[in-house]
Amino acid sequence: METLDQTPQSVDANVSDHDTHTTSNQQTSGRGIRTGAEYLAGLKDGREVWTRGKRVDDVTSEPGIARGAATLASFLDRQHDPKFRDTVTYEDADGDRCAMAYHMPKSVEDVAARGRSYYEWAKWSNGMFGRTPDYKNASLMAFASATDFLAQGTKGQADFASNMTAFYDYARKNDKVLTHTLVNPSVNFELAASGKFSDKVALQVVKETDAGIIVNGARLLATLGPLSDEIEVFPSTVLRGSDDNIPFAFAFALPIATPGLKLICRDTYDHGKSHFDAPLASRYEEMDAVVIFENVLVPWERVFMYGQPELCNQAFNTTNAVVHMMHQVACGKLAKSEFMVGLMCAIAKATGRDKDLHTKGMISEVMMMTETVRALLHSSEVQAHEDEYGNFIPLRGPIDTSRNLFPKMYPRMVEILQLLGSSSLVATPAEADFENDMADDVAQYFQLTNLESRDRVALYRLAHDVAVSGFGSRQALYERFFFGPPALMASAYYDMYQKDELVDRIHDFLK
Ligand SMILES: Cc1cc2nc3c(=O)[nH]c(=O)nc-3n(C[C@H](O)[C@H](O)[C@H](O)COP(=O)(O)OP(=O)(O)OC[C@H]3O[C@@H](n4cnc5c(N)ncnc54)[C@H](O)[C@@H]3O)c2cc1C
Repeated sequence: METLDQTPQSVDANVSDHDTHTTSNQQTSGRGIRTGAEYLAGLKDGREVWTRGKRVDDVTSEPGIARGAATLASFLDRQHDPKFRDTVTYEDADGDRCAMAYHMPKSVEDVAARGRSYYEWAKWSNGMFGRTPDYKNASLMAFASATDFLAQGTKGQADFASNMTAFYDYARKNDKVLTHTLVNPSVNFELAASGKFSDKVALQVVKETDAGIIVNGARLLATLGPLSDEIEVFPSTVLRGSDDNIPFAFAFALPIATPGLKLICRDTYDHGKSHFDAPLASRYEEMDAVVIFENVLVPWERVFMYGQPELCNQAFNTTNAVVHMMHQVACGKLAKSEFMVGLMCAIAKATGRDKDLHTKGMISEVMMMTETVRALLHSSEVQAHEDEYGNFIPLRGPIDTSRNLFPKMYPRMVEILQLLGSSSLVATPAEADFENDMADDVAQYFQLTNLESRDRVALYRLAHDVAVSGFGSRQALYERFFFGPPALMASAYYDMYQKDELVDRIHDFLK
């Protein structure tokens, strides 16, 4: 499209009003948590989702996508279940029950309550539906609290802080499911490393009108995009503070069904198999998509930052949104690690190898990783403190350690599962083989010391879906990258680490 040097004002000529897609900012007064049925009904909104070479008519019935939606709907229903309700929701000042992740924490106990809610949500899928709505809700809560920060960017008539507060209330009161996209596709590593974006692919502002900004280009990657109500398009974390980057500096949110907004899905990992045959893929397909914006109008009331690369660059850190997101993530990774330990112990017990030194040694390694996440999470929560916006936040250091370690831990957990399972991970007859002419053979030849054939196959099919299947491989990729490039996260960790006194000690020693 346009070149990088062009400011939003200078590119007007290339986009006519006729080419522009528009949307309106729906403002309904919801009453808090929704049912699964309400959520599913909301997804039938004409959104433009593409998969397997064709446009999807209805994501709630599309093979390969629909069962993930049904799972999320069942989770939303659990918010109403008396067994979970008090853990995962809170009552707001109007008496409405809202999702706990929206609750602005005002004490150490509030932070702990948020942690219990994240952990409960994660247990519902054993961490295998990674992008539950509480992740984005947590960051939205932080941004809506940091009104002073957003007010710095206010431009003309637009009041960015009020826009964010209004969007927070809208999402909270209507229990909206959000996705986000932070990363511009890069066509050239050198360009990307120097903090510049390609004007051929990166999402950029191409026109400014009285109604809002018009954006064009692509972003990656929106996990849960096809199954979300709204998309937050926030700044990439490394925006050089130069004028070149002004067209790329913004934060906004739009309904997924906005005209001109298109999602291209990756291949699905839900191939329609039974829960027995594909225990995870048949339930937890959370679908990632590249997002394309074709001259989309973002109304001013949905813009939260604009035209200030330096400010955009600080957004996640300064508002502490990243800390609240780390908190949600650490709770989820604890649930996932516990699941991995449980699975490995079940396999060891079934084979009778739970007495074997090497087997116990390998599983202990996963137990230690699990306890590391638990300890870091605990340390962070008990040291929660007030931030400059009057919220309590978990102490960053320990959960930042967890977020940097887990991308390394999880692939190792998968490796250990492969080492424990070996050929059993693929010696896995289908559910139908227990009913057909093979039934007697399968019942005979797949038994284990401590398990009947059917239970053994079920157990190893579960392990297969974690460690071998396409679903499992994507999980490992997700853990490596979803929070950002590992090198960048480690570099930020280094910069924040309290190291001066440690260096002084070295110099004192040398003296
Ligand atoms: C399954 C999955 C789900 C995701 N979901 C979302 C989502 O919902 N929303 C969203 O916004 N993003 C999402 N992401 C994208 C994620 O944020 C990016 O993958 C991540 O930031 C890395 O960027 P990249 O993929 O462009 O890789 P690149 O930046 O091209 O990195 C490739 C490799 O190069 C390394 N590298 C990158 N830059 C440097 C450098 N300057 N110096 C040295 N090494 C470098 C990286 O560490 C990595 O190993 C998802 C990714 C995956 C895999």
